[in-house]
Amino acid sequence: DNEDLRLLLLENISQDAVSAFRSQGFQVDHYTKAMSEDELVETIPQYHAIGIRSKTKITERVIKAAPKLLVIGCFCIGTNQVDVHTAAKAGIPVFNSPFSNSRSVAEMVISEVIALSRQLFQRAFEMRDGLWNKQSKGCWEIRGKTLGIVGYGHIGAQLSVLAEAFGMRVLFYDVINIMPLGSARQVDTLPTLLAESDFVTLHVPELPETINMISREQLLQMKTGSYLINNARGRVVDIPALVEAVQSKHLAGAAIDVYPSEPGFNGAPFDDQINSWASNLRSLPNVILTPHIGGSTEEAQRMIGDEVSQSLIRYLNYGSTVGSVNFPEVDLRPITAEQGTSIRVCHVHNNQPGVLKQVNEVLSPYNVEKQYSDSKGDVAYLLADIADVSPMDVNRLREMINKTSANILTRLL
Ligand code: NAD
Repeated sequence: DNEDLRLLLLENISQDAVSAFRSQGFQVDHYTKAMSEDELVETIPQYHAIGIRSKTKITERVIKAAPKLLVIGCFCIGTNQVDVHTAAKAGIPVFNSPFSNSRSVAEMVISEVIALSRQLFQRAFEMRDGLWNKQSKGCWEIRGKTLGIVGYGHIGAQLSVLAEAFGMRVLFYDVINIMPLGSARQVDTLPTLLAESDFVTLHVPELPETINMISREQLLQMKTGSYLINNARGRVVDIPALVEAVQSKHLAGAAIDVYPSEPGFNGAPFDDQINSWASNLRSLPNVILTPHIGGSTEEAQRMIGDEVSQSLIRYLNYGSTVGSVNFPEVDLRPITAEQGTSIRVCHVHNNQPGVLKQVNEVLSPYNVEKQYSDSKGDVAYLLADIADVSPMDVNRLREMINKTSANILTRLL
């Protein structure tokens, strides 16, 4: 029963998430602060689930101190603050919310396309300095211009639709073939995209192949008077090369939201100590610099709360690991009321030969209605729905599966 399950929510996770958990019958303790490793080691033994944001670190020591812990929810984008490998080996899936801010980023790109095209930031800075400078030279409508999207994933695809609504022509380049939305067109090579676009916007992950993907050579392949926008990851652009391209007026401007090194707290300086070229970049006109805010909106925060709480609830109630970062993704439709006496076996085990044979031997007296298993690295996960299990048999079954040689954690739902 969910009443027996205790959830610890730290770092002021949204009240919507708290209500979602309480409506499922979970006991929830909600704190506004993060916890240190020592505090966690003391507190975590009584909890079955924990929700954190980016400040709480879940280390190997914390995981070892958490015998009851079933699941970890990161109510944010990244999961670096959690030792996800140790968690997986302890049978604990970790969930996050990587795509909840896609729309926010796409909208910001649209605003940057217009702001660059109209030299909006330059005019606004001049007015702040008390300078009236009305002009139309070098200012353009975005209608009819070509937007080149590099990486047509969650953000790139959203952006494609928004840009077409403004009358832009959309090209994209991606390493995989993707069905274009609307009238967008996929091009075969990056140089083709660079040569044809008035605005180039980057939406690729940081990978060995994408580091410095836009360097001197690529900037020279861009049209004279075009613009570069980077809201992806800092290392994707060689910034000294970009500075040169803007200084030489080959590019008319740029918008940059992400940097190879980023300060860790608000109020910190953004200067040459953090990135050696920072003051060169800051001195360029028509270059918009923002502090990694592409995805930072109230809506994105709310979506994170919804998405991660739903993932935890689906795992605790039905065993589904869809969306987990450290587990194989396994799911079965929830057991319906007509299957009243069916139960679901959720068996996390070491990924080694012969396990399914042992477990299926335990299950062999029953009718297995559905079964699905998958593995990821050292850890494998099996879901099986079995029919007509008497309440008396449930404990016996759990014990027998727990005794199989590769067992990490077995739950019967
Ligand atoms: P996604 O995984 O949905 O899409 C990425 C796309 O890039 C995929 O279609 C993939 O095939 C493609 N790709 C990968 N390698 C490529 C290559 N070498 N060349 C061309 N295409 C390649 O990711 P997403 O959610 O759209 O996010 C894109 C980027 O935006 C990520 O780097 C993410 O970290 C970043 N991001 C930034 C912010 C912000 O606040 N500025 C917010 C969210 C995401």
